[in-house]
Amino acid sequence: MRGLIKTRFIPTKSIPFMDSSIIFQGISEDIGAVSLLAKGYKRPKSKIRGEIDIFSVSLVQFFLKDTREVHTIRDARLIASYSGFIKDYESVRRCAELGKIIFKMATLDTAKSIFALYEGLLRVSHKKEQCNRELYYGALLKILHLEGVLPRITTCVKCGSKTVKYISPEAGGPLCDKCAPLYSDSIKVESGVIKELFFLTVRDFESIATFKIGKKTVDIITSLTKEHLYEDQKDIT
Ligand SMILES: [Zn+2]
Repeated sequence: MRGLIKTRFIPTKSIPFMDSSIIFQGISEDIGAVSLLAKGYKRPKSKIRGEIDIFSVSLVQFFLKDTREVHTIRDARLIASYSGFIKDYESVRRCAELGKIIFKMATLDTAKSIFALYEGLLRVSHKKEQCNRELYYGALLKILHLEGVLPRITTCVKCGSKTVKYISPEAGGPLCDKCAPLYSDSIKVESGVIKELFFLTVRDFESIATFKIGKKTVDIITSLTKEHLYEDQKDIT
């Protein structure tokens, strides 16, 4: 895909550039992760000022050339602003962290679904005025599933058996009784934890926001994601 692109875009990070410009890194609905230069954004006369911002959806236009890494925005129009959680530091940190992971993982193939996922998360966080722990871990699991990093929680990753009793970061997911001994890092998990993981994977953010997940579930998600997001995990602490 190249030429004039018109697509919906959500910035996940803004980087000041020169005196009056900003580079917005983020996720676009049609081409995935992209870095866009908003030239003269901070100037009072700029026509895109206020039309593009972190955690907001804008319709942007830019020329895409294969060789250039940062594309200059031709036009931007704000569609939706999800700022309801902006006063809550933890919520902002969680949404920014998820944005960073998405920016890193999104490909052309997953662009549409991961854009919808992130917008859904922001919309619910905006409405509830916070991105709680459940929303964060739910989104994290969904992103990893979408990007093909984590398999479904319901079946053994080795043999496909439906009686899952262990989880192994090395195997990349759940295991049955028979396959668990094949991996030295297999952890036995209670059926309640499996149910919570399954819930986070399949339900929408609206339901997840009112759910309560246990510490054991959080630990499992953390150990599973560490394998794939080592650099990001370092930043969380
Ligand atoms: Zn098995």
